[in-house]
Amino acid sequence: MFMYAPNDLYLHAVRVPGDASDAADLTRCEMQGRADAWLMFERWKANVPGFEDSFFNMASPYIGVRETRRLVGRHVLTESDCLEGRKFEDAVATGCWYLDVHPQDVTKNSAWHEEPKFPEPYDISYQTLQPKTLNNLLVAGRCHSATAKAAGSSRVTVTAMALGQAAGLAAALAVEGKGSTGELSGVLVRRRLESQHAGPWVEPA
Ligand SMILES: Cc1cc2nc3c(=O)[nH]c(=O)nc-3n(C[C@H](O)[C@H](O)[C@H](O)COP(=O)(O)OP(=O)(O)OC[C@H]3O[C@@H](n4cnc5c(N)ncnc54)[C@H](O)[C@@H]3O)c2cc1C
Repeated sequence: MFMYAPNDLYLHAVRVPGDASDAADLTRCEMQGRADAWLMFERWKANVPGFEDSFFNMASPYIGVRETRRLVGRHVLTESDCLEGRKFEDAVATGCWYLDVHPQDVTKNSAWHEEPKFPEPYDISYQTLQPKTLNNLLVAGRCHSATAKAAGSSRVTVTAMALGQAAGLAAALAVEGKGSTGELSGVLVRRRLESQHAGPWVEPA
């Protein structure tokens, strides 16, 4: 729950497990989410002191999707890469969010079945943006190459932005060198990001 104004309560409360890569199932989730939100509101209004005169102000314009398909790249970021802080010479971004993996079923009294794991800041390799077989394509953001557990951390907005910046810069470097993003060295991408005060976080000496 968050309060944006003294009488304005935002409830981050409804979660619907489903398969968002299936249009029919996504529609079912959208309808279920709205029904759950209204049910919750009606129960609160009827039973929770202070909510007698409340009204439903707004809900999200459409259901948010955390994950669907992801790339299988030249490197697949894993849970142990994150938790053990594996170093990559060609790191182009840093992940630092916890492994925020949402269960695909109903949980009671908690958002998770077990407490999430919190990694130290970890490296994300350029190779997680590169498809295994296609030579001149980069896949940035939450659909980069990572296992479901690792993506629970690397999918968040700040990391997605850093991966997007790395992909954009790599594309420009490939054009500049008249080559492809597949042939480009991730170490070079890292160096150029660093020269722009971007790229992976490095622990001060
Ligand atoms: C309920 C929920 C809560 C979340 N909470 C947090 C949080 O607290 N903190 C956090 O950091 N992250 C949170 N996230 C995760 C985060 O929002 C996403 O993982 C992140 O925004 C992914 O960024 P992206 O750039 O990879 O993808 P997106 O933000 O989805 O960007 C992809 C863009 O591509 C556009 N697009 C799609 N197809 C086409 C096409 N054919 N042509 C042109 N454009 C197209 C889409 O419209 C979209 O704008 C949450 C996600 C959800 C669903």
